[in-house]
Amino acid sequence: MSFDLSSRLAERRAAHLYRQRPLLETPQGVNVMVDGEPLLAFCSNDYLGLANHPQVTEAFAEGARRWGAGGGASHLVVGHSTPHHELEEALAEFTGRPRALLLSSGYMANLGTVTALVGQGGTVLEDRLNHASLLDAGLLSGARFSRYLHNDVASLQSRLAKAEGDTLVVTDGVFSMDGDLAELPAICDTARTHGAWVMVDDAHGFGCLGKTGGGIVEHFGLGLNDVPVLIGTLGKAFGTAGAFVAGSDDLVESLIQFARPYIYTTSQPPAVACATLRSLQLLREEGWRREHLGSLIARFRQGVSAIGLQLMDSSTPIQPIVVGSSARALALSAALRERGILVTAIRPPTVPRGTSRLRVTLCAEHSHADIDRLLEALQQAVASLPESHD
Ligand code: PMP
Repeated sequence: MSFDLSSRLAERRAAHLYRQRPLLETPQGVNVMVDGEPLLAFCSNDYLGLANHPQVTEAFAEGARRWGAGGGASHLVVGHSTPHHELEEALAEFTGRPRALLLSSGYMANLGTVTALVGQGGTVLEDRLNHASLLDAGLLSGARFSRYLHNDVASLQSRLAKAEGDTLVVTDGVFSMDGDLAELPAICDTARTHGAWVMVDDAHGFGCLGKTGGGIVEHFGLGLNDVPVLIGTLGKAFGTAGAFVAGSDDLVESLIQFARPYIYTTSQPPAVACATLRSLQLLREEGWRREHLGSLIARFRQGVSAIGLQLMDSSTPIQPIVVGSSARALALSAALRERGILVTAIRPPTVPRGTSRLRVTLCAEHSHADIDRLLEALQQAVASLPESHD
């Protein structure tokens, strides 16, 4: 019989890869109620703690009263309203680029941009640890598509040497499951030598990295000529929803003409853009959020090393602890939960086999005492498991 879904589901369960959705019964934050349990959470992408900031929620409510609940149409029909437009202008100014285009999600921004820029006859080269939306975009583009070794410029170079047609080099800015940074200056130099363009998806760096929160390009002091295509998402450090592409006037106009996930979808509710405008203002005014986050990261890394767990090479709020098998990652996550701590176990296919991990993420709303509680619970959780748990 075709479509034997129950066997597929049973196989996934047997491999410890079955996914469940925890039910969040309170607003996003560090102290949450999940499935009826009060928990201290270390797994959201709300890095700056803006998702439930009173000024942001008020801007959202005020935006809904003024502009209604929905976008009502796609941008090209009659769904492009003043808040969308103002947000695009503010994002262009903030990123120091001529234009920015607002899209309803990061997934769509990535899919729309790659497929609008490159097709048959061209080449897309991606870091093999790029986010799923970028890999899907490369496949869907119809271009020659190849993945280079993670952050390995020699591996990129050998592929660039064989590339044909318009060539786009695509990388995460901060790798979402590892927390490390792309070797962007070297990637940009190599791409430029081969006449290729670089596209950076800075979903996890934008708002967090750089002196003013301008993300990985600010962190490395790179400009429009180095990174002609910059993607930022708004559902993470900005605490709202949506994404943008920033670049030249021609880039944005081309996306308006050719990016199907932009053209054929309803615009995001204008009230979301109102909320994001307020997030942007807070992000610029409240530099202490980034500074505090930096001190939490340092405290956490020092504490984890003292326990003897394996950290990754990350200076960002994404601080994964690699534990190996899916079963062990699940068991550790469950042991933490028994101690009132929520940390998600990340397993294949999201990460390579044998590298299942606890993906700890830190947020500006956490206190140093919260970090200490997590460290103590981690130590107890590890001690509670048999060495060879599999
Ligand atoms: N890029 C990266 C690196 C991401 O981690 C994510 C979301 N997890 C996205 C893109 C997709 O963004 P969105 O959630 O806005 O669709």
